[in-house]
Amino acid sequence: MVELDKLAKRYRIEDGDGFRLKDWDPTDTAWLDDKTVAKDALAQSVAKLAEMQDKLYAQDHWSVLLIFQAMDAAGKDSTIKHVMSGINPQGCQVTSFKQPSAEELDHDFMWRTNRHLPERGRIGIFNRSYYEEVLVVRVHPNILGNQHLPPKLVTKKIWKERFEDINAFERYLARNGTLVLKFFLNVSKEEQKKRFLARLDEPEKHWKFQPSDVAERQLWSDYMKAYEEMIRATATPHAPWHVVPADSKWFTRLAVAAAIVDAMEGLDLAYPKVEPEQGDKLQAARAALESE
Ligand code: ATP
Ligand code: MG
Repeated sequence: MVELDKLAKRYRIEDGDGFRLKDWDPTDTAWLDDKTVAKDALAQSVAKLAEMQDKLYAQDHWSVLLIFQAMDAAGKDSTIKHVMSGINPQGCQVTSFKQPSAEELDHDFMWRTNRHLPERGRIGIFNRSYYEEVLVVRVHPNILGNQHLPPKLVTKKIWKERFEDINAFERYLARNGTLVLKFFLNVSKEEQKKRFLARLDEPEKHWKFQPSDVAERQLWSDYMKAYEEMIRATATPHAPWHVVPADSKWFTRLAVAAAIVDAMEGLDLAYPKVEPEQGDKLQAARAALESE
């Protein structure tokens, strides 16, 4: 039996105080070792998600923002693909954030993501996000130099200030009816190596490989430190992080799907009620159609 609600909460962090990445095992698969059972459970969660999305859309009150962050080859793309496979494409939008353009660099760092926030009734997915601003930018502080910030605002406190701004922004979203869920796909350094080698072995996967991926890998411990501090500072009840083990893809997908279903169950999703006079109009419409 896959107890999905238990699984959903296992990786959720609502208070980052004292968070240490080394306490979270990338190879963990909870109490599950049977891929087939997990696959059935994933199919169930995906079906549930589709049902909830239909209500979300019809009700038009809430929106859902799912943020994915991870090292390369942790499986962001395939997790998004599998978890969202049952969803009506009209109610869902995925945006990938790469290196910022010149225009984007001429604005505050939230600008480019703000334009892609989900409308009410929709699910928005960020494949990378404004969190890159405290990850890759922190690991490569020279990137800050390209951001045209007034020099006197670039101080040692900049990361702390960004955490504060992100927390305030996510609280603002929550107060406006956006459910914010954040996922860190926690892959191990060894598993990343295996996946890189597999990409090099298979010609169909070569396009996925960039030589710079290996250079970033050399900075693994800097990245892990940045992730740890980020989660410590930005895991909140209104926008929790989920530190999802990512060494087994089948498990990552299930844990992510379970977490989304569980959180959406906390929204009061329901189809809008039909008012009595509206009911009369529907009756009249039926009568008109039947008498044609
Ligand atoms: P894949 O898993 O297929 O490699 P990806 O998400 O890594 O997909 P890429 O095109 O390889 O996509 O890389 C996007 C790159 O853009 C990442 O290295 C990321 O760190 C970088 N990036 C994203 N946002 C920013 C930002 N605000 N400033 C600087 N670099 C950024
Ligand atoms: Mg990449």
